[in-house]
Amino acid sequence: MHATHPAVGAARIGPNSIIQTVGAIEEERGPQETRSFLRRIGQGDFAEQLPTTMIDEIAFISLISAIRADIGVEAAGRILARSGERTADYLLANRIPAPAHAILPRLPRRLGLSLLLKAISGHAWTFAGTGRFSYKVDAKGATLSLANSPESRGMTADKPICRYYESCFQSLLRPLIDRRLVVRELRCAAQGAEACVFEVR
Ligand SMILES: [Zn+2]
Repeated sequence: MHATHPAVGAARIGPNSIIQTVGAIEEERGPQETRSFLRRIGQGDFAEQLPTTMIDEIAFISLISAIRADIGVEAAGRILARSGERTADYLLANRIPAPAHAILPRLPRRLGLSLLLKAISGHAWTFAGTGRFSYKVDAKGATLSLANSPESRGMTADKPICRYYESCFQSLLRPLIDRRLVVRELRCAAQGAEACVFEVR
């Protein structure tokens, strides 16, 4: 099975990582200014055309680092958080089947989380590229782990910086499990952790 896994070797990631990040910038700056911003930070290709198929994850990593280099990690984090939310909205509308929307929120939370995280895990390469996603459901919620996260790769920081994934997980889990749940990145590879770890409570 793993030999035919589409992510192996190719390091592909879904185009939403780029589309929704550009969309999040547009929400702040409008389309014109976004195009000149992208050209200025060396990402002019995305000012002309957004990807429609799987892309090399390096493209996402380069976009993130170009944004960070220009406006700082903190401000970039706000854009990436919004991008994660937009990605989750896309997945909820286009990739999560209707029966899941109806059934998951009604199940006992632990069972709902187990079923949903198993499904997410099966598609992890589409949003994490060569990042390795794993999870553990417990009595309080769940712990998600993303090793080799594209968002923290090569980064050093004194606090967690994977706002895209934090926000994507939260926005994806809320309508399907519990609207009050919170996802928070506890430790990040950018801080030297082995993997980025997110708690779901
Ligand atoms: Zn991280």
